[in-house]
Amino acid sequence: MAGTMKAVHFYGPGDVRLVEAPVPEPGPGEALVKIEAALTCGTDFKAYRRGHPVMLPQTPCPFGHEMAGVVTKAGQGAERLFPEGSRVVVGDSAPCEDCFFCRAGQSPLCDNLKILCGAYAQYLLVPAKVLKHKTAAIPDGLDFASAALAEPLACAVHAAQALEVSGGQTAAVVGSGPMALMLIQVLKAAGARVLVLGRSPENLARAQAAGAKETFSALLPDAVSAARQAAQGRGADAVFEAVGTPEAWQSAVALARKGGRVCLFGGCAPKTQVPVDAQRVHYEQLRLEGVFHHAPGHFHAAVELLAAGKISPELFISGRVPLDELPKFFRDNAERSIPKAAVIP
Ligand SMILES: [Zn+2]
Ligand SMILES: [Zn+2]
Repeated sequence: MAGTMKAVHFYGPGDVRLVEAPVPEPGPGEALVKIEAALTCGTDFKAYRRGHPVMLPQTPCPFGHEMAGVVTKAGQGAERLFPEGSRVVVGDSAPCEDCFFCRAGQSPLCDNLKILCGAYAQYLLVPAKVLKHKTAAIPDGLDFASAALAEPLACAVHAAQALEVSGGQTAAVVGSGPMALMLIQVLKAAGARVLVLGRSPENLARAQAAGAKETFSALLPDAVSAARQAAQGRGADAVFEAVGTPEAWQSAVALARKGGRVCLFGGCAPKTQVPVDAQRVHYEQLRLEGVFHHAPGHFHAAVELLAAGKISPELFISGRVPLDELPKFFRDNAERSIPKAAVIP
């Protein structure tokens, strides 16, 4: 398919531009996807403000990493996976299949991890490994924008699976932002009773709407002990930190029951050190775990949750932006933390 397309590229902090770019040609195993919906993401706004060495290593470059669309051209061999006309949601990475970590089944730690960007465009070339490992057919009844939630949702699925959350357990979430809301919905879908500790009253109301059983204002001095009380008086079986500050990491450790698990999900600023209560970790056998990104299994599980109606897309997607207006949208919202918008090419 020769010709050009509209795309929004990242040129540097504070500088994204609408450009004309060539429509890519799919090679063997690759597919050309016509984007029907892309979602803006908190990470994109963070990158807009200060750049992003992992996601956007060289500039200018394609931008946007949560996307769904239709296969318009399948490269040699790719039509067996997704024939032309397939509605697909595309993940933003794939195992390289080669490094120590991919072979060990820990592909989020892949030595060659690259984030596939280019959602903010009319067309996206999906590399062969992404097509093979992290692309899924969109089930009937699921619209493109909702399907594109599979990427961030996969991170929440990864966290819930890492701590082996199952029915009847009490899970606590520290934080009430968009990722916390996703965690709440994933934990609830796993059958857990979810308690939430957060600061903003509006966000705590959203946490309730997402399915939290009880919420606690982190601004009150006894919030942690109140939440521990609500968790059978002994603390939560599993705790998820989704803020990314030392205080929140410490609250998460304090919320866990003896023998409980703690997922440190929110990334802190570089070089942050967090003191933890060593007594608790040793004598009370806490299990502390970092969780980053997602493996193919998490991505496909996220698509299944969306297909099963376990996730409420309206909690996350607040509006629509035409591709042409995206540079202005980033300028206008650079300093605010906004919910997701669906970008329509
Ligand atoms: Zn994202
Ligand atoms: Zn690898």
